[in-house]
Amino acid sequence: MTAPTPLIAGNWKMNGVAASLDEARAIATGSAQSPARVAICPPGVLIHRMAEVLAGSKVLVGGQDARAEDSGAFTGDVSAEMLADAGAKLVILGHSERREGYRETDALVASKVLAALRWGLEPIVCVGEVLDQRKAGEALTVVTGQVRGSLPPELAGKAFSVAYEPVWAIGTGLTPTTGEIEEMHRAIRETLTEMFGADAARVPILYGGSVKPGNAAEILHADEVGGALVGGASLKAEDFLGIIRAL
Ligand code: PEP
Repeated sequence: MTAPTPLIAGNWKMNGVAASLDEARAIATGSAQSPARVAICPPGVLIHRMAEVLAGSKVLVGGQDARAEDSGAFTGDVSAEMLADAGAKLVILGHSERREGYRETDALVASKVLAALRWGLEPIVCVGEVLDQRKAGEALTVVTGQVRGSLPPELAGKAFSVAYEPVWAIGTGLTPTTGEIEEMHRAIRETLTEMFGADAARVPILYGGSVKPGNAAEILHADEVGGALVGGASLKAEDFLGIIRAL
């Protein structure tokens, strides 16, 4: 089976106001010829305007999280239906900042994946170990366990990606060695194959954690790396395009 089309997605986290839409426009212009799929996941309140700004371009808009339920008394939360209605095509789920800050479990992430599928959103499911787990030699076990627990069987035949994001590499400037990234991505691919059979070959496995223009080429060309989930370096078009062009 041919390799999946790479996906490079920017996670703006809680950054960006209307003026930031200029960066999105510049990203769309600069990535038009890229062989990658490109996405920006802005704060929820910008999704609708960004989807309008990017209409007709290759850049997709995504959410950063979605509630598992479709509606109800959940003050401050956003449903997958609302994201899709606003123009999102993808959604990041299980980011470590949600797992840590909001105590999200694998089971909750799996139920959010089901919500995304109900509304036609393509999930980007994040997994990754903390530093103590890596130091204790537990990274492979932890991450493959997260993959098994966070991906429901209903994903079979659906478009989705997995983002391996070592928690200690997010926003720190630290990255694993290329060998460590490849070892983890191969383990994730094996787990996906056990879960979904031959179809698993078409699932992009993204790397995330301090990806920048300077290290993107080496990371993106590593074995089993099918793209990147980029935080800080996705906020400025120049930096994000530097990563997209490294493919
Ligand atoms: C992230 O939070 O998904 C991320 C990868 O952040 P950064 O690129 O800033 O490390």
